[in-house]
Amino acid sequence: ASPGALLSVRNLQGWYGESHVLHGIDFDVREGEVVTLLGRNGAGKTTTLLAIMGILAKRKGSITFDGRETIALPARAIARAGIAFCPEERGIFASLSVEENLMLPPRVREGGLTVEQVFELFPNLRERLSSQGTKLSGGEQQMLAIGRILRTGAKLLLLDEPTEGLAPVIVQQIGHTIARLKREGFTIVLVEQNFRFAASVADRHYVVEQGRVIDTIPNSELDANVEKLHGYLGV
Ligand code: ATP
Repeated sequence: ASPGALLSVRNLQGWYGESHVLHGIDFDVREGEVVTLLGRNGAGKTTTLLAIMGILAKRKGSITFDGRETIALPARAIARAGIAFCPEERGIFASLSVEENLMLPPRVREGGLTVEQVFELFPNLRERLSSQGTKLSGGEQQMLAIGRILRTGAKLLLLDEPTEGLAPVIVQQIGHTIARLKREGFTIVLVEQNFRFAASVADRHYVVEQGRVIDTIPNSELDANVEKLHGYLGV
């Protein structure tokens, strides 16, 4: 682990059954940072988040969080240690109301937000309090999904493509939300395909290709590396 990192991932390997998809993922996140995992479809970004969360059953290497090795811990112990995952599909319950969705997540640690605090963070959710999950717009669903993981008390948030399928103005709102979470001290790992969005919120970018981190780009150097990134991402 590197000194000062809240999360350190070293030589992370991962498999789906016999299929070896992570071949050595390495990256670090310090407390309060936002980093992205960028890369093409199928590069292994989502799988990396699943491995960190302990959901990917077959994994090897080292993951230290808050000074503790977590590679062999079960998912519930990792959640209790303070990591939460917001999947690309968002994981909200379509038939339940906004409020019910917010009541469900277990508060696994001290410091989990109350339902009221989630509404302070996302005032439009309060207005939709009794709306069913399915009646929400894509942006509202994403806010609800993030609100749910904030209830748990996690301090490291793993967000899988939160802007997927959202209109530009909503993407901007999600950007403000992430900036606010960062100011409040949360640490965030973001999987993104939306390069502009990534640039607007992150401190650093890790490029993932075929199950490896092949490049690290500080956000301040992103502009100078646009061509290279386009090559990596195939855009
Ligand atoms: P995407 O944006 O498409 O989600 P990604 O970088 O997140 O891309 P992963 O979803 O991590 O990529 O996929 C990495 C590799 O693992 C891909 O080759 C994918 O086909 C494979 N894979 C993903 N999920 C499974 C699964 N449940 N079973 C078997 N292989 C899988």
